[in-house]
Amino acid sequence: MTKTIYKKPELLAPAGTLEKLKTAIHYGADAVYIGGNDYGLRKRAGNFSFEDMAEGVAFAHERNAKVYVAANMITHQNDEKGAGDFFRQVRDLGIDAVIVSDPALMQICASEAPGLDIHLSTQQSAVNYETLNFWQEAGLTRCVLGREVSMQEIKEIRANTSIEIEAFIHGAMCISYSGRCTLSNHMANRDANRGGCCQSCRWHYGLFELPSLEQKIMVGAGEPGIKEPFSMSAVDMGMLDYIPEIIEAGIDSLKIEGRMKSIHYISTVVNVYRKAIDSFLEDPEHYQIKQEWSDELWKIAQRELSTGFYYDEPSEKEQLFGKRRRRPEYSFIGEVLDYDPDTAIATVQQRNNFKVGETIEFYGPGMRNHQEILDKMWDDTGEEIEVAPHAMQIVTMKVSQPVAKHDMLRKHLK
Ligand code: SF4
Repeated sequence: MTKTIYKKPELLAPAGTLEKLKTAIHYGADAVYIGGNDYGLRKRAGNFSFEDMAEGVAFAHERNAKVYVAANMITHQNDEKGAGDFFRQVRDLGIDAVIVSDPALMQICASEAPGLDIHLSTQQSAVNYETLNFWQEAGLTRCVLGREVSMQEIKEIRANTSIEIEAFIHGAMCISYSGRCTLSNHMANRDANRGGCCQSCRWHYGLFELPSLEQKIMVGAGEPGIKEPFSMSAVDMGMLDYIPEIIEAGIDSLKIEGRMKSIHYISTVVNVYRKAIDSFLEDPEHYQIKQEWSDELWKIAQRELSTGFYYDEPSEKEQLFGKRRRRPEYSFIGEVLDYDPDTAIATVQQRNNFKVGETIEFYGPGMRNHQEILDKMWDDTGEEIEVAPHAMQIVTMKVSQPVAKHDMLRKHLK
């Protein structure tokens, strides 16, 4: 019997900062996407200066990982000024590709920065192979599919185009058709398609049926008589259970959403998907999803998970009309800076309050997890302490099992 050999897809992670870029790659991402200071859609995501980009590219390339820059805003007149310089600098820094939505920016990039690969942003909502072939003929090397595409459509697209395909596998969804929303523009005068979305769909509203037209206005939650706030928020996407089908469909790059997410979120999600992808490719016939992988995903803050548009149109179950139905059970508390195997002492940087006597979970790349009760710790002067209350405080602690630099610590919320 012949064994099927699958093409290994790229695992692509979000990186809002240099620290997140390094974390994502350390935990197993094959590539990361970042934003520059201009032309992106995440104005508040901690975008990269050219200096940070250079450091990020060097870090990534040393580890055979790639870095893409999102420049996917829709440009109004004059927004595109200076884009040629931007793309040239990005190319000269060694960035592997830019993710673009606006044809004006594509044209400027192609003419002013030849040699720099262009990927089509999901903002262009490419969901059929004719569209992908159009962009391939225009010189693009990859299309990020719209989140609204189904698995069946992806298979058909794959069979009819040779351009690289990138698809979302985890993270937040829009209640609107991606890239076609102006809710934030109306509610807060912040343009979602020029990097300003303030997630108005996730706010809480009061919903009324009032007798007269004049009275039919939306008022905020908390008004007298409103017990349950109303929201239009979609639940998140999570495709962990479907990794074999995703790989068999021939998707080249599996994308995790969330340039504004924390290092706790990025390290955990990348770790889990890395494990699932590698396990499947190692032995597709005996592959089985493990309960501990999905349990791990519930240790981070996220909404409930669904398969988005992959298998069916989302129903009301995929909406969060009210409060979140599931809350995170763990809190991120620190990162290991150093570990001495001779003394079994770990040096840790605090990110959230923790104290002696609490059960702490350490985790590292490859899903190396262990829990222990914190027995003793010391501050940076060597004085024994009971609590680590200060953000970024450096403490040392005795650990019962080996840990490694960049392992993370979390604690269970009671
Ligand atoms: S307001 Fe909500 S639906 Fe609209 S773009 Fe922002 S996140 Fe998406």
